[in-house]
Amino acid sequence: MQKILYFDNAATTAVYPESCARAAYYQSEAFWNASALVRQSREAVDAIRESRAAIARVLGVSADEIYFTSCATESNNWVLRSCCFRAGDELVTTEGEHASVRETAKALAERGVKVTFVPLTRAGFADSEALFRAITPRTKLVSLIHVSNETGATNDISALAAEIKEEFPDILIHSDGVQAFGKVAVPMKHVDFYSISGHKIHAPKGVGALYIKKGRKLKPLLTGGGQERGLRSGTENVAGIAAFGSAAEKFSSAYDAGRMSRIQERIAEKLSDDPDFFTNVSSDRTSPHILSCGFLGIRGETLMHALAERDVVIGTGSACSSHTAGNLVLKAIGIPSERILYSVRISPDIGTTDEEVEAFCAGVLDTVRILKGSLR
Ligand code: PLP
Repeated sequence: MQKILYFDNAATTAVYPESCARAAYYQSEAFWNASALVRQSREAVDAIRESRAAIARVLGVSADEIYFTSCATESNNWVLRSCCFRAGDELVTTEGEHASVRETAKALAERGVKVTFVPLTRAGFADSEALFRAITPRTKLVSLIHVSNETGATNDISALAAEIKEEFPDILIHSDGVQAFGKVAVPMKHVDFYSISGHKIHAPKGVGALYIKKGRKLKPLLTGGGQERGLRSGTENVAGIAAFGSAAEKFSSAYDAGRMSRIQERIAEKLSDDPDFFTNVSSDRTSPHILSCGFLGIRGETLMHALAERDVVIGTGSACSSHTAGNLVLKAIGIPSERILYSVRISPDIGTTDEEVEAFCAGVLDTVRILKGSLR
């Protein structure tokens, strides 16, 4: 079988073999319910404890500040719905959020929560002047994405949170760290909540976590058996959690931003052999694992499907945004609509080899050439 050239790691990643093996072990051998009272379940409890500690180490926080969830969508819902639930509560977020924050904020707005979506700068960051204008003493929560899943633009969460807390120490700060976890560190000093997901870092789908700063209170989103110290009921996904912890340690120690930048530069350099190649954002504060770009005249979707035919996989943006009208984040940074139509998202992995980069670029350029020929 021809090897697939997979350049859509911002959508999901292949599970590391050792994380797979760990998950399999906790599915079929040590399959105990971590909440059962029998001696055997101790093994499941230990696996969860180890993973909590591993994830906490990657984030630089204490293990008891990590709560496991089913995904980052749940983590994001949990924070927003728990902090802003009364009519009149104020939530400040941005136009650059993933759908799991954006749509939750809209649902809360329908219930009377006052939601402000702060605009983005042309480089893809939350506009800090607009952000500070939007915050009032009645603001309950500020939710800011860390690394954009569409553009890679990286908000300086730590500095923004510090500035907000200086003026309004009671305002809670949440960040969606899904595309940053294991790649871009964020000192959590002023951050109250931080959402992460397993499947972006070679752990299985269906496991996520939420960092909750010690002393901060959230109402549970799911009530029931009282797992996760009473805050997130539901039988623990021991296999997923065990795999998440091992993947987090491996991924974060392997991740090399310098190498990722070189991969991204090489891709952009090579693809610009085609005169119609463009990039949507360029900034030194953009995470190198996401490249938002395209070829004028070639629809992103057409290119994506044509490449998939030759086993080269890219995305046209967040899988979630494919269900909504167009790419709202690219729109928010002022990319004209026809250019949005031509845009794709290329996201290599830290394990992507130089040979794969070269084969990928050759495949893309050849496909673009063929598509251009068929359009003439
Ligand atoms: N937030 C961001 C920035 C994402 O990229 C994603 C997934 O694409 C999510 C949240 C949702 O994560 P999950 O798939 O774990 O629900």
